[in-house]
Amino acid sequence: MTAEPAPATRMLPAILESSPDSLIEWLNSVGQPAFRAKQIRQWLIQRRVTSFDSMSDLPAALRILLQQNFRFCSFEILNHQIASDRTEKLLLKLQDGELVECVLMRETDRRTVCISTQVGCAMGCVFCASGLLGVRRNLTAAEIFEQVLVLHRLLQPDEKITNIVVMGIGEPLANFRSLTAALDVLTADDGFGLGSRRITVSTVGLPEKIREFARLGAQYNLAISLHAPNDDLRTQIVPVNRSIGIAEIVAAAEDFHQQTGRRVSWEYVLLAGVNDQPQHAEELAALLQGRTAHVNLIPMNGVSELTLTAPREPHTQKFLDILLRRGIPATVRKRKGADIDAACGQLRLNRETAADQTTPE
Ligand code: SAH
Repeated sequence: MTAEPAPATRMLPAILESSPDSLIEWLNSVGQPAFRAKQIRQWLIQRRVTSFDSMSDLPAALRILLQQNFRFCSFEILNHQIASDRTEKLLLKLQDGELVECVLMRETDRRTVCISTQVGCAMGCVFCASGLLGVRRNLTAAEIFEQVLVLHRLLQPDEKITNIVVMGIGEPLANFRSLTAALDVLTADDGFGLGSRRITVSTVGLPEKIREFARLGAQYNLAISLHAPNDDLRTQIVPVNRSIGIAEIVAAAEDFHQQTGRRVSWEYVLLAGVNDQPQHAEELAALLQGRTAHVNLIPMNGVSELTLTAPREPHTQKFLDILLRRGIPATVRKRKGADIDAACGQLRLNRETAADQTTPE
């Protein structure tokens, strides 16, 4: 007896993995006019339907053909958490079974989504849940921008996504091609249509990629994860720093600012007893003096597998005060979604480690 074939739908390609041109080609092959491609992409990218069947201006026969030939989305939602501050976090299962996360954060006048770019991460930052299991693969462009679309569909009818931060799992600039293809769709007028100034890409600091990003000539915001004011300490916290060095990153940031006119922000995760001392704040201020920079202090989010913690509040305040006194614009990042697994990569990590414990050898 042969094994039962997998259900046909599991083998179907996700529709947004097809470029507009190949969608037109497919439409031609089933006897449909090319203009349907535009309609279909509009439904998928700009509107909030969740099935082909709801695409009411398409002929019924085409809707059935779409259903038979494509998956509606490149992933499914495996888990949906909602925090008491209405932060929503999704755990997504990709077609090959890999997991990533995305988050929706609400403030009075903003709805910001945070998206992932890789399955896992190779950078190895010692406080981060995403890197604990290494990197498995890059996300495709559709897997990146569909995170925004799926969160958009979860909003109330009167809500809109106002900002995107590429600060989820992975190192975005290590997946440059998919990242920029995804940003193209998110900013295009006939795509999601968000202004590039509303999008922030956060990087561990890969100098050549920062320059390539600047050369796109767009107005994206760049955030660089520094976490330490000198190379010795940074290499302990961000191991990839060993082969890069802070001076190179600062020079690339300067080039980015020259080329785009955008202010660079520097992220600094505060780790109690590690990088949170007054002399670290002084050294950081000296490093950034005279540059158009903004420092974002981030008290570490707890990761259950790690013993590192955030400093106590007065300590954080003292670090902030030193920067401000030295004339460095700085803020402390507000914590969102504190009562769900909010740390970057924590949801995926919980799932993966639970699976390890239950998988027979
Ligand atoms: N690889 C990129 C983007 C992903 S991480 C980068 O390094 O910037 C996005 C931000 O979240 C980074 O500044 C990262 O250092 C921070 N981060 C990761 N784990 C964290 C944790 N446990 N607590 C607080 N911030 C964390």
